Amino acid sequence: MIVIKTREEIELMRESALIVSKTLGMLAKEVKPGVSTLYLDKLAEDFIREQGAIPGFLGLYDFPNTLCMSPNAQIVHGIPSDKPMEDGDIISIDCGALKNGFYGDHAYTFEVGNVASETKKLLQITKESLYAGIREFKIGNRVGDVGFAIQNYCEKHGYGIVRELVGHGLGSEMHEDPEMPNYGRRGRGKKFVEGMVVAIEPMVNLGTQQINQLNDGWTILTKDGKPSAHFEHDVAIVNGKPELLSTFKYVYEALGIESNEEDEFRQ
Ligand code: MG
Ligand code: MG
Repeated sequence: MIVIKTREEIELMRESALIVSKTLGMLAKEVKPGVSTLYLDKLAEDFIREQGAIPGFLGLYDFPNTLCMSPNAQIVHGIPSDKPMEDGDIISIDCGALKNGFYGDHAYTFEVGNVASETKKLLQITKESLYAGIREFKIGNRVGDVGFAIQNYCEKHGYGIVRELVGHGLGSEMHEDPEMPNYGRRGRGKKFVEGMVVAIEPMVNLGTQQINQLNDGWTILTKDGKPSAHFEHDVAIVNGKPELLSTFKYVYEALGIESNEEDEFRQ
């Protein structure tokens, strides 16, 4: 069942999403060679609690930490560790926060030091595919239109779209209906309506789409050991159009990146 949100609820959800956005911005300054993902996890937990929110992933389905930290060939659901990050790594950081009874859930893949150009391109294309998907999240379209846009954008570059993990409706539950696959066929699936809120989150592999899972019961990684990228935004349908609730603005401020990529999704 799809739970439709009122304008008031969407504003509360924006508050939760922005706590995650600010957490990612805070972390952007700390991602560097020699730093462990467990250290970043502790910083994030303290930061989220200081905002009057609760870490959204900690304890959810018994996940042990605040952040999902997935370096290099790990796709999603990686568990923070005390192993220092190294120059040339990438690290996908997925973060959730719960405030006023609503979740924010939002992710960014960071470069650690100097990253290979083919990996940089994977990050760029994955992020662009996220916006290609968001553009289709509007009245008149269906779930398959978003998936098709993401898949089409990435497969042109020969990348593998992960099938086993998908985006999702978001609200008072972290995972609500509908499922939002990053692949699909135009005009198929559930119809979008005013007041829907979803997390759109392409998980894109440099090589094969095939995955493995570590025996920690959590970590999903590429079968061929090549890198994978993950970017996620929280989006509502307002006035029939996609309205971004989360933002990469804080990350970009921290990294000195100029971007107007989110402008088309603000009303
Ligand atoms: Mg997430
Ligand atoms: Mg999500």
